[in-house]
Amino acid sequence: MRRFLVAGNWKMHGGLEMTTELISGISREVLNMATISEQRELAYDILVCPPAVLLQHAGALAKSLPISIGAQNVSPHTSGAFTGEVSLPMIAEMGCEYVLIGHSERRELFHETDQDTAEKFAACVNFDKSVVPVLCVGESLSERQQGQTELVVERQLNAVIDAVGIQGLDGAVIAYEPVWAIGTGETASPEQAQAVHAFIRAKLAGLDENIGQRTQILYGGSVKSGNAEQLFSQPDIDGGLIGGASLTVEGFVGICRAAQ
Ligand code: PEP
Repeated sequence: MRRFLVAGNWKMHGGLEMTTELISGISREVLNMATISEQRELAYDILVCPPAVLLQHAGALAKSLPISIGAQNVSPHTSGAFTGEVSLPMIAEMGCEYVLIGHSERRELFHETDQDTAEKFAACVNFDKSVVPVLCVGESLSERQQGQTELVVERQLNAVIDAVGIQGLDGAVIAYEPVWAIGTGETASPEQAQAVHAFIRAKLAGLDENIGQRTQILYGGSVKSGNAEQLFSQPDIDGGLIGGASLTVEGFVGICRAAQ
């Protein structure tokens, strides 16, 4: 059985105060939920990805809480003359257990190529401490309209598989995020999302059945408490990567409830 993961991508939002409020608020609410349902442990995992400068504060707050911390991006290099970049050893030291790789905003706004994404993913695989890569894939609106969704997603996956082999994806997380649904308020229907998730799983399973079956595949794109339950009830959707709705305790916890 795959565990659910509910992940918040704060993007370039927040400060020290918001980080404290969100992390303490989420943990207070979810632990109450766990108590009410008499669960000793949460039935799903929670991840928050604050901006890089807030990772240390977030990591310290979350240390004894059932919340993992992730970075939104990382350099493929370990150290060196790369002004403005942060490395895997740095984020690991801040308490990060995950890192987003190839988010569509990185691809679009910062011109990250499939090759760049593959190099970052490979750096995670080769890193001696565990930082789980969350590989984001997804098509633009025009690519969907031209019937190229599977082609694009497969190309993005292949770049990583070519770099690290299918074994390199073992333990990684994939987030399917149709670009047209990110921050637009427009969500893929549960059926549309499920179809792409099933395609991704079949692609992985075709290379290694076990890896295909155990890989967590998250859906991202305007997930809210009102649509999370339907999305999460699809057989190949194992949780969500949440942008806007992860910026309030109420919004994020409402989505966590759907993962119960
Ligand atoms: C995201 O940033 O990954 C995302 C899915 O954003 P939103 O939920 O706001 O669409």
